[in-house]
Amino acid sequence: MLACLSVLVLALASAHLYLDRVIRDFWVYHLEQRLLREVRFARVHLSEVANTDEDLIPLVNEVGLRLGVRTTLINGQGRVLADSETDPSALENHANHPEISTARQQGRGTSVRYSNTLDIEILYVATAVPEIGGGHLVLRLALPLRDMGHIKQRIAQAIWIASTLGLCLALLLAYATSRYISRPILDAIWFVRNIASGRLKHRTLRVGSTRELRDLGTALDDMRRQIQTHIGQITLEKSRLEAVLTSITEAILVTDQSGRILMGNGTFEKLFGVSDAMEGRMPIELVRHREVQDAIEQTLKTGQVVFLDLNRSDSRENHFDVQVAPILQDDQMAGSVTIFYDITELRRLERIRKDFVANVSHELRTPLTAIKGCAATLADGALDDKEAAQRFVQMINTHADRLHNLVEDILDLSRIESGALPLETGVYPIQKMVDSVVGQIRPLAKEKNLAIEIKIKKNVQVQCDRKLIEQALLNLLVNAIKYTPEGGQIWIQARDFKHVENMQTRIALEVKDTGMGIPLSDMNRIFERFYRVDKGRSRAMGGTGLGLSIVRHIMDAHGERVYVESEQGKGSTFGLTLPRI
Ligand code: ADP
Repeated sequence: MLACLSVLVLALASAHLYLDRVIRDFWVYHLEQRLLREVRFARVHLSEVANTDEDLIPLVNEVGLRLGVRTTLINGQGRVLADSETDPSALENHANHPEISTARQQGRGTSVRYSNTLDIEILYVATAVPEIGGGHLVLRLALPLRDMGHIKQRIAQAIWIASTLGLCLALLLAYATSRYISRPILDAIWFVRNIASGRLKHRTLRVGSTRELRDLGTALDDMRRQIQTHIGQITLEKSRLEAVLTSITEAILVTDQSGRILMGNGTFEKLFGVSDAMEGRMPIELVRHREVQDAIEQTLKTGQVVFLDLNRSDSRENHFDVQVAPILQDDQMAGSVTIFYDITELRRLERIRKDFVANVSHELRTPLTAIKGCAATLADGALDDKEAAQRFVQMINTHADRLHNLVEDILDLSRIESGALPLETGVYPIQKMVDSVVGQIRPLAKEKNLAIEIKIKKNVQVQCDRKLIEQALLNLLVNAIKYTPEGGQIWIQARDFKHVENMQTRIALEVKDTGMGIPLSDMNRIFERFYRVDKGRSRAMGGTGLGLSIVRHIMDAHGERVYVESEQGKGSTFGLTLPRI
């Protein structure tokens, strides 16, 4: 709009200036020709009519009157002799006036001058009058350019009116055009800004009535639709990736190429106790293991996969296989991904297996050494001593029993543990099961003068593998007898199980004794294989250290549990949970 206006103003101003000049020149030329004709006529008239110098003054006045122009007669010295409109004596010397001097030299002269008195430009035309007054007189006609000013004013007015009108029209046009162009462009800007700020669901863009603007609108709309589709795909892929990362049980950490964290999955947050935002932080701030930070840096530097072992000991010992791999984009390093494989359980099982082998060997060695010793002693001549021979054979028998028990227990354990033993579940009255077990061990209890009391309501039925649960109960009862001093008391009771929520349909079958109890520090470990609180006593009692381990495995196979409550010196209560029918 500004550009349009500038051009218009410039054009009108130049037109005005040009017209002004041309009109003035034309007007002056036109009047000059007229005055020249008139001065020629006046000159002839003067020279023909004037006889004496005295005649000149009235003649000049007459000429002035008739022609309607100021007529002046100047002598050779420049003095005004006669003037049709002013007293000649009041006028200054005219010798230096350009029209006079030119007229004197060239016969005629013209000039346009500004008159301060009249405040107007005046055209003077002079001619020499050689015919009279000794040849030095100059006759001059003067005509104010009053009309020309008027005409110029009119023309200027017309030009300015036209200019103003043109200007208004141009303004209107410029405004309309700029609106016509800028409105759609503003629309397009608003549209693009919306896209940039992620608001992609806006209405379709309607821009402009020109073809180019319509094309622009269509192109922008296509761009919006494509961006929307791409963002939709990216969002979908991102949520898929997030779902995968969340569901992965391994801890995962992703960094950018500068080693700063981009993201970590839920397992990582849980493992390293991250509660704040982790984006932009360095791995070492969260992992707190220099080796991991070094491995990430090495991978980012060399682009190679780095493996390392990580041992963490918080509340318990944790072992990880850590793998750091590069993320490459167009063969350029774009970041790293670190995966923490938790191998704690694997290591634990490995240790258990090793311990088990060591324990079994150890447990087998003791009775075997004893048997071998007895046999050697017998071979060395003890056979001849009947009494000694009997004692040694008895010892061999006892140790062989121990070996037998041990092997039996190990076999039971491995059968239950391997799952090779399918559960044969059924619904059984608990009282019957208890009676059958108690029947087996009553002689044992009697030997130690222990009273067994059964406190079980009739008609309580449970669902289980009868043989296995009876074996578990037997193990608990054997322990109760083993670890309760003579004259003690044993109770077998069944009560509703209230320890865990939503287990109302379960009952707890408990074996309670008044025995030696279990120290608090050992309570967690007695269910481990070969774990005994007092090794000597256990062995003396013929224990293998596997009884409770077998119980636990039986209960695990049922999806149930075994628990213990005990107070050292006062007694223990072992309980089995079972689904009540
Ligand atoms: P063991 O063959 O040695 O009895 P178990 O696995 O049956 O092996 O028991 C593990 C350990 O738990 C025993 O050595 C003993 O120290 C302790 N224990 C088990 N039952 C009782 C109980 N009723 N009273 C006290 N200690 C017990």
